[in-house]
Order: sequence, then structure tokens, then C-alpha cells
Amino acid sequence: KRKFEADNDAAVVAAAANMTLDDEVTFQSLGLDARLLQGIAKLGFANPTLVQAKAIPLALEGKDILARAKTGSGKTAAYLLPLLQSVLKAKEASPNENATRAFILVPTKELAEQVQKMCEKLAAFCGKAVRVVNGAQNVSEQVQRSMLSENPDIIVATPAKALLHITLGGQALVEKVVHLVIDEADLVLSYGYEDDLQAIAKALPKGLQTFLMSATLTQEVETLKKLFCRNPVILRLQEGED
Ligand code: ADP
Ligand code: MG
Repeated sequence: KRKFEADNDAAVVAAAANMTLDDEVTFQSLGLDARLLQGIAKLGFANPTLVQAKAIPLALEGKDILARAKTGSGKTAAYLLPLLQSVLKAKEASPNENATRAFILVPTKELAEQVQKMCEKLAAFCGKAVRVVNGAQNVSEQVQRSMLSENPDIIVATPAKALLHITLGGQALVEKVVHLVIDEADLVLSYGYEDDLQAIAKALPKGLQTFLMSATLTQEVETLKKLFCRNPVILRLQEGED
């Protein structure tokens, strides 16, 4: 099996041929926090899927990632685990600071709920160190304010709702944001969120670490890449990967 290689800071297109999974890759070997490993074990995940094995180490190095992998290949945990690891580190550095570190943008309310649930499960052993909210629901401004009042570490929302949160929370909400995920990136733009995304790109700090996850690499994904990514590692995973 050939080893996957990524040049430092160069965009790498990894063809399916050299994207095989080394049998020795385990969640432990990816260098994840022990609390996250407990969450993974409780979920019953024995080993990382291919997209997880490839994306997690690169993400932990701080790289932007554009990953195309088919539905069901485990893309959610591929970005959630590095985000959670980053939140845990930030908490160790500043235990008393409540700051939003990441936005996860998804095309639908239903997906927001699924992502939030998966995040809570992975973070089940992190105690109060990680607070993730589903910001995609239709709620009153009062509820929205209370949701944002303690700057949740991770906010999952559609672009329209994320922009509402940013408008309400202002600089105090976004100033410590360091990660942006766009899940189902191919759908997000085709659902008509372009203006919201433009506004979000303007409002968030520069130099974010960005993850674009998609089942297909479409023109929409290319547009988002130009809008949000620095110099992403491009992972293209094909059928039968795990
Ligand atoms: P995708 O976003 O690529 O369509 P998901 O993240 O929704 O895929 O994951 C698909 C399913 O696989 C989910 O039920 C998830 O719980 C499960 N899953 C994810 N990672 C693993 C793993 N490492 N081992 C076993 N099951 C996994
Ligand atoms: Mg998905």
C-alpha cells in the first residue's frame, strides 16, 4: 500500500489510487484526546474510516481541508473530532474563557440536529468543557439571546441562521472563531445561501481553518473554496474506500 503524502502547504490532490487505508491506523494513533477516545468507544466506532484517517491528522496540523467522500463514509466525525480537540486545548489554555471557536454551516435544520447530536456523543466525556448548540431552529430572539449568552464553543446552523447569530452576537461572538466547517458544501450554495455566505465570510475573522465536506466536487464547492479556503488539502475518496 502506498502511503498518502501531503506537501507542506501545497494543495494536494490525492487520487483514489493512493488513498488506501493502512490497517494500523487507529483512533489512538491519530493523537486524539483521551476523552474523545472514550466518546468514540461509546459510539462503538472500532477504527477510523478512510476519510477520518486521512483528514484528522491534517486537520490537527491546522490545514484547510476539502474532502469529497461518498455519503455514509464518516465525514461528520472527520471534522468534529479535530474541532473538539481544538476546543479542549483552548479550554486547557484558558479554563474560564467562554468563546465561540467554530461555526458549522449545513444546508438544512435536520442536518444541523444530526451534527449537533453526533458532536454531543463524541464529547460525552468532556464534561462542561464543550458546549455545542443547534442554532438552526426557529426560536424567538429571547431564546436566541440566551443560546448565545455564554458564547457556545461550537454553533451548528444553516447559513441564514448563522448570520442572524452573528448579527445579534456581534464582535464578541465571532472574535475567537478559528474554525469554519461547511458540511454538504455542494448543497449549501444550491439551496440559495450565497448572500448569507458572503456576509459570513466578511464577518468572521480572517485566517480561519476551513473544512469543506461534500459528496461531490461541483462548481458550488469550487466557489466556496475560493471564498473561504486558504490553500486546502484536497482529499478525493472514491467508492469502496473502507
Ligand atoms: P457522511 O457525512 O460521510 O455521509 P456520516 O458522518 O453521517 O457520513 O456517518 C455515516 C454513519 O457512519 C453514521 O451512522 C456514523 O455514526 C457512522 N460512523 C462514522 N464513523 C464511523 C467509524 N469510524 N466506525 C463506524 N461507524 C462510523
Ligand atoms: Mg454528512
